[in-house]
Amino acid sequence: MKNLVFLGAPGAGKGTQAKRISEKYDIPHISTGDILRANIKEGTELGKLAKSYIDKGALVPDEVIIKVMQARLAEDDCKKGYLLDGFPRTIEQAKALDNITTVTLAVNIVVDDDAVVRRIAGRRMCVCGESYHISTHPSDVCDKCGAKLYQRDDDKEETVKSRLDVYAKQTAPLIEYYSDKGVLVDVDGMQDVAEVTKEIIKVIDGNC
Ligand code: ADP
Ligand code: ADP
Ligand code: ZN
Repeated sequence: MKNLVFLGAPGAGKGTQAKRISEKYDIPHISTGDILRANIKEGTELGKLAKSYIDKGALVPDEVIIKVMQARLAEDDCKKGYLLDGFPRTIEQAKALDNITTVTLAVNIVVDDDAVVRRIAGRRMCVCGESYHISTHPSDVCDKCGAKLYQRDDDKEETVKSRLDVYAKQTAPLIEYYSDKGVLVDVDGMQDVAEVTKEIIKVIDGNC
């Protein structure tokens, strides 16, 4: 069963890889960041609440995000497996996830600290969910849908530092959490996008 979790610092390449891997195995790609940003755009109550945390580079409270994920994982498309990107982000969330379902593999995308900063600084997003890097995609128009790309507010320098601190304190402990369960595999995220994808596929085919 492909019940997958992607771990890695902000900017490590989780979203980029999750898109490719979810297409390859035909499982839903569930990104809590994408869900929250869609809610902010629509102006929902969840969006309003989430924005106040995201703008500070802080995490949205566990109970809020856990409720969102309980509902999402109960949907039919998750019966054939799923790929979680950006959840869990705390031990509390990981425990809640264990009460809902069994994670079969946690893929930890490992990237140097300075590469993370470069990747976040150059990231440009599209409303359709695609993300690009200015170094490999200098145009400000999306290849997939033609919309104009934008920089996420929380990708600006002021917020990035708090996000990296939050990652080190609250999310990095998940590496040990999943390692203790025997489901963690590290992948070298410093390679080209296509090489990282290949390595992840190898790991999934060897473990699930
Ligand atoms: P995350 O979801 O982990 O925050 P993204 O997938 O959005 O990260 O990637 C962050 C930035 O780094 C984006 O600009 C993306 O285009 C770029 N990127 C992703 N993977 C690689 C890679 N293997 N090599 C170089 N740049 C990458
Ligand atoms: P990145 O991969 O670059 O860190 P995401 O798009 O995953 O960015 O998340 C953006 C922001 O959304 C986070 O900084 C946080 O405020 C909020 N967020 C996303 N997922 C979670 C989660 N599982 N728990 C709490 N907050 C979250
Ligand atoms: Zn687009």
